[in-house]
Amino acid sequence: MKQYIEIRCRHCGADDLVKNGRSENGTQRYRCNECGKSFQNEYSYNAWKPGVKGQIETQTINSSGVRDIGRNLGISKNTVISELKKNSCRSESVFHAAGRRN
Ligand SMILES: [Zn+2]
Repeated sequence: MKQYIEIRCRHCGADDLVKNGRSENGTQRYRCNECGKSFQNEYSYNAWKPGVKGQIETQTINSSGVRDIGRNLGISKNTVISELKKNSCRSESVFHAAGRRN
């Protein structure tokens, strides 16, 4: 199965990106073909591990703050927020996720 990871430019939001080496801590860097700026995709590695999305939803139901969720999962709070925005249109599945905590 092909895994699709969506990464967008931090500056202009374009998805036309090229890999641009790695930073000292091994984080993938990208350069945007649209605006020419480079940025570091520091949080995507953890954020897109299987199960993390569900954990964001579950922890939100338990009324954890986004900062706490990010800290628990080892991802940026911005990632948490963007996940929550994406998921707000399908609240039904959020409830299902909350129902099966491990
Ligand atoms: Zn850009």
